[in-house]
Amino acid sequence: MIFSDYHTHTVYSHGAGTCEQNVLAAIERGLSRVAISEHGPAHLFYGVRNERLRKLRREVDELACRYANDIEVLFGLECNLTDYGACDAPGDAPAICDVLLLAFHRGVRLKSPFMRRLGAEALGLHKNDPVETANALLEAAGKYRITALSHPGLYVKSDIPTLAKGAAELGVLLEINASRVTMSKEELKKADELGASFLINSDAHRPNDVGEFASALNAAREAGVIDSVLNYVPDMPELIFLPGTAAAVPAPGAGFDM
Ligand SMILES: [Zn+2]
Ligand SMILES: [Zn+2]
Repeated sequence: MIFSDYHTHTVYSHGAGTCEQNVLAAIERGLSRVAISEHGPAHLFYGVRNERLRKLRREVDELACRYANDIEVLFGLECNLTDYGACDAPGDAPAICDVLLLAFHRGVRLKSPFMRRLGAEALGLHKNDPVETANALLEAAGKYRITALSHPGLYVKSDIPTLAKGAAELGVLLEINASRVTMSKEELKKADELGASFLINSDAHRPNDVGEFASALNAAREAGVIDSVLNYVPDMPELIFLPGTAAAVPAPGAGFDM
């Protein structure tokens, strides 16, 4: 099973649940670690910035204490690419954040010709060189000590072999996003061959989806890369969550002894 979820959103951006509801959902799923990873400050609509970001940090810290016996609660941030090799991680991000994700998102001010080209691609009006986009992300990932690149290839095409090779060199992970599996079977295989490691995350925008990994697990298995998923534990049962109950039950056919 997957023991951790490093990518969940809350009412601080456009998620439906509170931080505590996400934590409780993660406990019900049987996870041992969950991160609240809100959108970085440069996102015009969903970005969490300044005093709200500090308030969120305090809230996550309180939850980490309150539920310390049940689960590890981490503070993350899903940063936005803001230019070639740049993102909106605050200067002290590596010190204050446990997890840093990075992706291109729509809804970020397009301040440079490079970003305007990416913005045009996201609207289907232009095609960029996917290798250049991959390198733009990698340069930012290295500079800001990013943990994982979230949903690679969403909104703008990124050359996955370039991303995988660079990510492996930097020690950055590639996310297999369970809300939207963005890499094809062939891309996952190739990334694995090039030495990339993966994280499976839910990208939940409501508590019920925290720890919901089915589509990403299927994709990883079909591509034969499950052993390169760092938050996968092969000999633990897979749990499915039944909405409306507090009980996590073994998935049919999981075949395990406890
Ligand atoms: Zn995202
Ligand atoms: Zn997200």
